[in-house]
Amino acid sequence: MAKYIFVTGGVISSLGKGIASASIGKILESRGLKVTIMKCDPYLNVDPGTMNPFQHGEVYVTEDGAETDLDLGHYERFIHAKLTKFNNITTGQVYNTVINRERRGDYLGKTIQVIPHITDEIKNRIKKVGQVSAADIVIVEVGGTVGDIESLPYLEAARQFRLDMGYDNVLYIHLTLVPYIKAADELKTKPSQHSVGTLREIGIQPDILICRTEKPLSDAIKEKISLFCNVRKEAVIECKDAQTIYQIPLDFKFQILDEIILGHFHLICKFSQLEDWEKNVVNKVLSPKERITIALVGKYMSLQDAYKSIYESLIHAGIANDTKVEIRKIDSEELQKQDVKKALDGVSGILVPGGFGYRGIEGKISAIKFARENNIPFLGLCLGMQCAVIEFSRNVCGLKDANSTEFKPNNKNPVIGLLEEQQKVKNLGGTMRLGAYPCRLLKGTLASKLYRKSLIEERHRHRYEFNNKYRGLLEKKGMVFCGIYPKGNLVEIIELKKHPFFVAVQFHPEFKSKPDQAHPLFRGFIKAALDKSKVKVEYK
Ligand code: GLN
Repeated sequence: MAKYIFVTGGVISSLGKGIASASIGKILESRGLKVTIMKCDPYLNVDPGTMNPFQHGEVYVTEDGAETDLDLGHYERFIHAKLTKFNNITTGQVYNTVINRERRGDYLGKTIQVIPHITDEIKNRIKKVGQVSAADIVIVEVGGTVGDIESLPYLEAARQFRLDMGYDNVLYIHLTLVPYIKAADELKTKPSQHSVGTLREIGIQPDILICRTEKPLSDAIKEKISLFCNVRKEAVIECKDAQTIYQIPLDFKFQILDEIILGHFHLICKFSQLEDWEKNVVNKVLSPKERITIALVGKYMSLQDAYKSIYESLIHAGIANDTKVEIRKIDSEELQKQDVKKALDGVSGILVPGGFGYRGIEGKISAIKFARENNIPFLGLCLGMQCAVIEFSRNVCGLKDANSTEFKPNNKNPVIGLLEEQQKVKNLGGTMRLGAYPCRLLKGTLASKLYRKSLIEERHRHRYEFNNKYRGLLEKKGMVFCGIYPKGNLVEIIELKKHPFFVAVQFHPEFKSKPDQAHPLFRGFIKAALDKSKVKVEYK
C-alpha cells in the first residue's frame, strides 16, 4: 500500500509548493522509492484548459492528453513518474462527478453534502492515484493557501485520510513563510504560528514545516517555531531562496528531510547522495562557461508562469551546452510597432512559442522573417510553426494573403486550417488534439539528426494544422516537411534547407525536457545559437 504525504501552504500564495513537492519527490526517489505526485486545484473549472494564461499560467499537457496545472511540469522535471489525467484534480471535476451521480439516483434518497460526499470523492481520487501508479509514495499538493474557503474540502479530506489509512501511512508537511523585517533586522515567526494554528483548527497538526526564508534560520528561530507550532525542531526545515530551483532537493537532503520522512513511515531504504544531480544539473547551472541571449517573442511576457516549461527547457539546453541562456522577452504585439532589427539586435536565437488568437501574430511573423533572412537560429512551437508557415508562404512563395483560418476564416490562401476532426467540435473544454502522438522523421534532415531516431512521440495541444494543399509549392521553395504524423499525414515538423537552424514543430517539446536530459530540439537550438554568437552578423 502507498504512503501519502500531503503538502499544504500557508501565509501567502506563490511560496513554491510545487517545487517543494517536486523536491521532496526527488529526494525520496533517489532513495529507491517509486514516487508519484498529484495536485488538487480548488477552482471550479474542470481543468485549466479554458483559462487565459494571465489567469493561470501555462497549461501543462500530460502524455495521455490531460490539460493540467503547471506544477505537474515541475513534478515531471524532477522525478521519473509519468503523470496522467488522474494526477490533477479540480473542484470542477469533483462536483461534476458527484452531481452526475446524484442525477442518476445513485445516492438513494440521501441529502448530498460537502462532508461526506465531496470529501469522499476527493479521497477516492487520491487513493486511485495510489492504485493506478503502484507508487510507494504519493505526494498530494493541496493548491491554495490555508484559510481559503475553497480549499477547505481538500484539507478536510486530508484530515480524514489519516483516520482512514492509519497514522503511520500519512504525513502532513506545511510550507510557510518566515519573513525578514529589514527595519528590525529580524526574521518573524508569527505568520507561521498563525498559519499552523489555522491548520490545527481544521484538525491537522503538521509533522514537518518547510520555512521559506531570505535568510538562514538560526537555531533560536527554529526552536521558537518548533515550540509554538508543535513540530520537532529537526522537522523545521529551512528553504532559503536559491539561485536555481534545482538546488532545493540538495538543501532538503542536507537537512535529512528524506530520513525524517522515511522515519515516520518506518521505511528503510538504500542510501543516496544525489551526486549526479549536483554535478550534472546544479553545478552546471551555477557555473556555465558561455553566455548567449535568446529572444522569446510571445504574447504573455509579463507573466513568468505563462511559458514556464519553455523557460525551463532553455535552462536544460543551456546545461547540456555549458551555457547560460539569457532571455530577451519581446512582446509580439509591441514588436508590431517597433523596429524589428533594433528589438532583435544581438540575439543569437529566436523562439516563437504557442498561443491562440490573432493578437500579436504579425509581430511574431516579422520576428520569424528576421530570423530566416539573417540566418539566426529559430525554433517555432505550435503556433510558432503555424506563423513560420504563414511567413514563408507570404514572403517566399508570393502568397501575399496567406493566413490561418483561426485569424481569417474566409481567407483565399488558408495555409493553416482547422483539423478535420475539429470541424464538428462545439465545446471548447478538453476538445483540442491533445496528448502524445507518433511522428515519423524524414531521413537525412536536421530533425532526424537531432533526435537520432526515425519515430518519435510528442505532446500536442492544438486545433489547426498545416494545409497539405500547399505542401508542393512550399517544398519547391525550400521548406522541408521532415516530421509527419503517419496516420493522418499531418505535418508535425518543418525546417528550411538553406538555413543553419530553422526548425518549427506543431507539438510541444517543452513538456518533455528534463534538467539532466535536455530535449534534443532545444539542445540543438542552443548549440546553433552558441555557434551563431561567435560570428559577427550584418543584418539584412
Ligand atoms: N492556436 C493554434 C491551434 O489551435 C496553436 C495552438 C498552440 O500554440 N498551442 O492550432
